[in-house]
Amino acid sequence: MIKHILVLGAGSAGLIAGISLKRKIPNITVHIVRSPEIGVIGVGEGTTPHFPAHLFDYLGISRRHFYTHAAPTWKLGVRFLWGPRGSFDFTFQPQLDSQWSDLPMANGFYCDGEFRDASLPSSLMHHGKAFARQPDGSPDLQPFHALHIENKSLVETLESVARDIGIEFTDGKVASAERGPGGIAAVVLEDRSRIEADFFIDASGFRSELLGKALEESFVSFDRSLFCDRAVVGGWERTVEPILPYTIAETMDSGWAWQIEHEHHINRGYVYASQSISDDQAADEFLRKNPKAPKSPRVVKFRSGCHRRHWVENVVAIGNAGGFVEPLEATALMVVCSHAKNFVEMLLQSSCSPTPTMRDLYNENTFAAWEDIRDFLALHYRLNTAKDTPFWRHCREDTDISSLAPLLKFYAENGPTGLCRYRLPKPTSAFTVEGFLVMLVGNRIPYDFKHSPTAAELKIWQAHRASLDATARNGIGVRETLAYIRHPAWQWHDERTMPVPRTR
Ligand SMILES: Cc1cc2nc3c(=O)[nH]c(=O)nc-3n(C[C@H](O)[C@H](O)[C@H](O)COP(=O)(O)OP(=O)(O)OC[C@H]3O[C@@H](n4cnc5c(N)ncnc54)[C@H](O)[C@@H]3O)c2cc1C
Repeated sequence: MIKHILVLGAGSAGLIAGISLKRKIPNITVHIVRSPEIGVIGVGEGTTPHFPAHLFDYLGISRRHFYTHAAPTWKLGVRFLWGPRGSFDFTFQPQLDSQWSDLPMANGFYCDGEFRDASLPSSLMHHGKAFARQPDGSPDLQPFHALHIENKSLVETLESVARDIGIEFTDGKVASAERGPGGIAAVVLEDRSRIEADFFIDASGFRSELLGKALEESFVSFDRSLFCDRAVVGGWERTVEPILPYTIAETMDSGWAWQIEHEHHINRGYVYASQSISDDQAADEFLRKNPKAPKSPRVVKFRSGCHRRHWVENVVAIGNAGGFVEPLEATALMVVCSHAKNFVEMLLQSSCSPTPTMRDLYNENTFAAWEDIRDFLALHYRLNTAKDTPFWRHCREDTDISSLAPLLKFYAENGPTGLCRYRLPKPTSAFTVEGFLVMLVGNRIPYDFKHSPTAAELKIWQAHRASLDATARNGIGVRETLAYIRHPAWQWHDERTMPVPRTR
């Protein structure tokens, strides 16, 4: 029976895993060991809606506490500067896999020409607004958003929550791990102190100290589908720029660049393939586009892929220690939350004595989740025709999307119908069929079946778009929404139920 869990690492993965365990299973002890000398990765600032849902709805962290200390802004989706349209938006509420009751076809069939105003978030993004306005003028904070959060504030805020609920912290560098009959018996710190536990969460980032190094679990590379392996990162303090309610993903010569919007800071990063461009060339291209960025942007190296199994003996790896897929859809924190939740639920369902078949199921699910992200991102690369550089020609010709063949064949015959969901490589894809349709329609991939709307249909379609556009035009921007939620009279809807309980 698992009673004492040691979490190695206090980046966002270790902290989310630790909080999830302690919050849901208060009887176990959770002890986090981390090395201030190694520090945290310091990038990872865009999320998906799964992240606020995990923090607020699943873990019950107080929104007021989180918004006060982590100071996030709202992200309604990603604006892709991509493909033959030059630009299209991927929002977190269906645009294409959705149908008005007074129209005969799904929205996707009306978006060949214009790709906008098919959902409220799409219209809000167009107008640079975060939320619709309520009759009293305040923002209507619908859950169709994710967050932008600076990594440092996120980690600090999570640490304060972790300490509040009774998680113990030790600062020290783990030098080795002692093996025992059931896996790892203890970790040994550089000062030679030993810390024992029944179970270990490896959240040591790319170092993967326990799963990768001590247990030598094999790593599966995704380098046939995803060629990028580095990023130059650098942002600047905001002056006159408006706070956009979305991330931008912009096509670059040898990869793509993100723009993430914080209240006082704009964060930019260029993700590229080191086989196509040197670090210096990438920095030059990045600085030409972003003259306000620091002259020597930081280089971050990574590899896309994951360990074959995330749970081996008495170790589960969460976060970069288990796997990482490049940040085009900002999915890492989503994966951390989902893996932490799955593990917690398995402990709960087994009274903390998980069975080998549970462990096998966990391993199947975690591996499938990484493959899902790999497949979705690979499609982004394969379809993008925005630039005709050697890197992008290589992506269009060589990106391995073999797992998507049934979907692409079905789409080519039938177009953007929701029935495409039955041809997804993973029917439970985190991106749902909507994500794949956005990539296909957004990149104007041709299909045979054509719906020719009547004049009456088009009139109805345009009326729906105009209505959403009017709501969004009257919407409320990020800065004004921040002022609302910081006003002493603001009431979060969780306020009466949500204090994080102290267990000691
Ligand atoms: C270029 C880039 C952009 C990214 N963008 C996004 C994004 O937009 N959205 C998103 O969700 N994710 C993004 N990510 C991923 C994201 O940064 C991470 O997945 C997330 O922050 C979790 O990191 P982590 O906690 O696994 O690792 P880390 O932050 O690296 O933390 C590792 C922890 O382990 C400790 N540690 C390591 N070794 C030892 C040791 N021997 N002894 C003691 N302690 C040790 C460290 O001190 C630290 O506390 C991005 C990643 C990269 C590379």
